[in-house]
Amino acid sequence: MTKKRKKHILKGTALSEGYARGKAFLYRDVLQTRYDFYDIEPDKVCEELTRFEKAVASVHKDLKFSATRVEKELTNQMADIFRAQAAILSDASLIKEIRNKLEQDFMNAEHVVDHVLLRWEKKFRDLRNKNLRQRADDIADLNRRMLHALQGIHANILETMKPGSILVAKRLLPSDTAYFKRKLAKAVLVELGGSGSHAALLTREYGIPSIGHIQDLVDHIRTGDELLVDANQGKVIINPTENEKEIFNKKFQKYKKESVKAKQFSFRAAKTKSGEQFKVMANVACLDDVKHAMEYGADGIGLYRTESLYMSRKFIPTLEEIVEEMRRVLEPAHNKHVTVRLLDVGGDKNLPFLNTPYEENPFLGRRGVRFLLKFPDLLKTQMAALFKLSCHFNLRILIPMVTVAEDIKKVRVIYENVKKENTSIKPPPLGIMVETPAAALCIDKLINNVDFVSLGTNDLTQYTMAAGRENDMVANYFLDDHPAVFELIKLVAKHSSKKSVSICGELAGKKSALKKIYECGIRELSVSPSLVPVIK
Ligand code: PEP
Ligand code: MG
Repeated sequence: MTKKRKKHILKGTALSEGYARGKAFLYRDVLQTRYDFYDIEPDKVCEELTRFEKAVASVHKDLKFSATRVEKELTNQMADIFRAQAAILSDASLIKEIRNKLEQDFMNAEHVVDHVLLRWEKKFRDLRNKNLRQRADDIADLNRRMLHALQGIHANILETMKPGSILVAKRLLPSDTAYFKRKLAKAVLVELGGSGSHAALLTREYGIPSIGHIQDLVDHIRTGDELLVDANQGKVIINPTENEKEIFNKKFQKYKKESVKAKQFSFRAAKTKSGEQFKVMANVACLDDVKHAMEYGADGIGLYRTESLYMSRKFIPTLEEIVEEMRRVLEPAHNKHVTVRLLDVGGDKNLPFLNTPYEENPFLGRRGVRFLLKFPDLLKTQMAALFKLSCHFNLRILIPMVTVAEDIKKVRVIYENVKKENTSIKPPPLGIMVETPAAALCIDKLINNVDFVSLGTNDLTQYTMAAGRENDMVANYFLDDHPAVFELIKLVAKHSSKKSVSICGELAGKKSALKKIYECGIRELSVSPSLVPVIK
C-alpha cells in the first residue's frame, strides 16, 4: 500500500489575522491516546471506587486553579468555563452513573469514566440548542482531566512547548487556555474549530495569528517542521523552499510596517484625503475589549453587546447587578460615547434562567426586540439600569432586530415610563439596529421614532442573501459586500441623513469595502478593537 503523500501547503479558515514563521509543536490530545482499559475482579471494585473519588477531588482542585489563573490572565467570562465544568462534575446523576457502573460492570475506573463521559458528550453534541451543544466540549475536557488524574499526570503537555513555537493541534479544549501563555506561541493552527471555537476566542484575545478548519492537519505536520503561517489568507506552508520564504518575508514585512504605521496614527481623527472626518468606534462585550479599544485609539464604543452579562448567570440579574457590572466594563471608556445594545437573545442564544420554548427556525423567530417585548420586566430593568448609568457615561440605547414601527413604539412606552421615574436624569438617546431588509426598506417610516441608527450588516446579510451566518454550507452566499446589501445601506443612509447612522457589522472592518461604504454616505463605523488602527 502506498503511503499517503504529505501535503506541502494547507488551507483553512482565518480565525485571527496576522503572519508568523517558526517551528511546529504538535500537541497530541490525551483523548486520542489509547488508555489501558481492562476488566477487574469483583474484589477490586472498592479500590477503583477510591481511585475515582481521589481523581474527582483532584480535578475539582485543578478546576479551581484554572479558574483563578484564567481570571487573572484573561477574562472572568473564560474563567466561568471552568466553574461550569466543576458544576458538571458535581452533578449527582453523573457521579451516580459512574459509581453504579463501577460497582456493576467490573471494569477499571479509566474505562468507566471514559465510557460515561463519552456518552454525556454525545448527548450534548446531538442537541439542537447551540449553547448546550458547546457544553459537549466542556464534557470532553472533563473526560481528559479525569483520565489525567487517574493516571497521575499533572502537567499539561502544553507547558513543555518551547517559546516561539507554532502550536498545531486537532482542537483546543477549555483547559488548554489555562496553560497557554501569550508569549509561548507565535501562531495557532487547529483542525477542528471555526470562528466561535475556543481556539478562535483565545487567539483573538491574545492577538496572535490563527487558522482553523484545516483538514487532516495533524497528519501532515510533525513537531519541528518549519512553518510559514499566513492567517490573513488562511494558508500554511510546511518546510518551505527558499523562494517561498522570500515571498513570505516580503509580505510579512509589509504587514508589520502597515500595522506599526496604523498604530502610530490611531489616536488621531480618521479623515479622507478631502478632509472629511470618519468616526471609528469599537464593538465590545467585556472589560478587556473596552481596554483594548481604548489602547487602540477607538473614538468611542459603537456597540456594547450585553448578552454575556445575562448568559453566564443562573438567575436574572437585578438592576443593581446590571449597573455594577456595566459600570465596571465601560469604565475605561467613561469619557467617550458608548452605545449599549439592549439584550439581544433568541436565535441561537438562550438565557439559562428562562425556559423558552423550542422554535423550529429560531433565526426567523422570537429574536432581539421581539424577545424583549415578550419579557417586559427584563426590558424595564435593563432600561432603568441604563438610565442610571447615563448619569456617569455619555450613553445611547440601541434596540436590536427591529422589523416594524410597532416594535419601537412599544419599547418607547417602557422608555417613557422609566423616564417618568427618573425625572432628574437626562434621558439617553434611543436608536435602532437596522438588520432586517424590512427595517432598511421602510426606514423612512421608522426614522422619526428614533434618535439614531446602527446598521447590523451581519444579520442584514443573512436575511438579504438567505444564507445563515453560521452555516458553512452556504458560506459562499453569505456576502456582506454584495450589491444588494449596499443598496440597503445606501437607502438607510439617505433617509437618516439628519441623524447619526453607523455600521457595526463585520463589513465595517473590511478595508476593501471602505470606499463603497463612504459612497453610500456612511461616516461612522464600529469594528473589533484590534481593527481600529488599520480602519482609521
Ligand atoms: C449584526 O447583526 O451585524 C450585529 C452587529 O449584531 P450581532 O453580530 O451581535 O448579531
Ligand atoms: Mg445582529
